[in-house]
Amino acid sequence: MKTIRSDYLTNSEIREKAEEFREEYIGNYEIPVNILLIAEKQLDLKIVLEEGLGRRFDIDAYIAPNCEELWVDTTRYTKRTWEERLRFTFAHEIGHWYMHSQILEEIGWDTKEDWIETRCDQKNHNNISSFEIQSDEFAGRLLVPKQKLVEKIEEKQDKIDEFYDNASRPWIGFDDLKGYLASDICDDFKVTEKVVEKRIEKEDDIEDMLRQ
Ligand SMILES: [Zn+2]
Repeated sequence: MKTIRSDYLTNSEIREKAEEFREEYIGNYEIPVNILLIAEKQLDLKIVLEEGLGRRFDIDAYIAPNCEELWVDTTRYTKRTWEERLRFTFAHEIGHWYMHSQILEEIGWDTKEDWIETRCDQKNHNNISSFEIQSDEFAGRLLVPKQKLVEKIEEKQDKIDEFYDNASRPWIGFDDLKGYLASDICDDFKVTEKVVEKRIEKEDDIEDMLRQ
């Protein structure tokens, strides 16, 4: 089994890369980030729709090792219910495009099936290497710019106060507050609730904003 590994990067270094990318290809902090358009127009990635990619391999999309094509499951590309998840997948694959193009090129591929097999092997063995973790962090920061997250949380200060006023029952905890806020603001970024929760946990100083 091939393992795809990348050089070690700290979370701050990955976030810096996401911000470099934003400056170079987006040029503003507007949300929601129009990631599908950026992939096609700015990066010139060719979107290739593939029937059954999701059903057979549970893969939403993957970047080809030549970094010129993005293969995407037809259903997940077209159905509204997959939109938030697909947007994260696009940002994740763009993370590979931006940070890992050299590694991808070195791996290469003989056939498309070989490449899918390599990717599935990784997933099935839970072999989540730095390669994947880095792209997740890149995607999270790209779609949820930190300053916008701070703004959105500040706008919800009343709701946070209200939450603490009502949270006298012992089984209501800090995690509930994070979930409650994430569900309230995830639509602004067009990402899933989980993605916002992760940003609240991972970005420096955000959790402190929520504590009273
Ligand atoms: Zn990946």
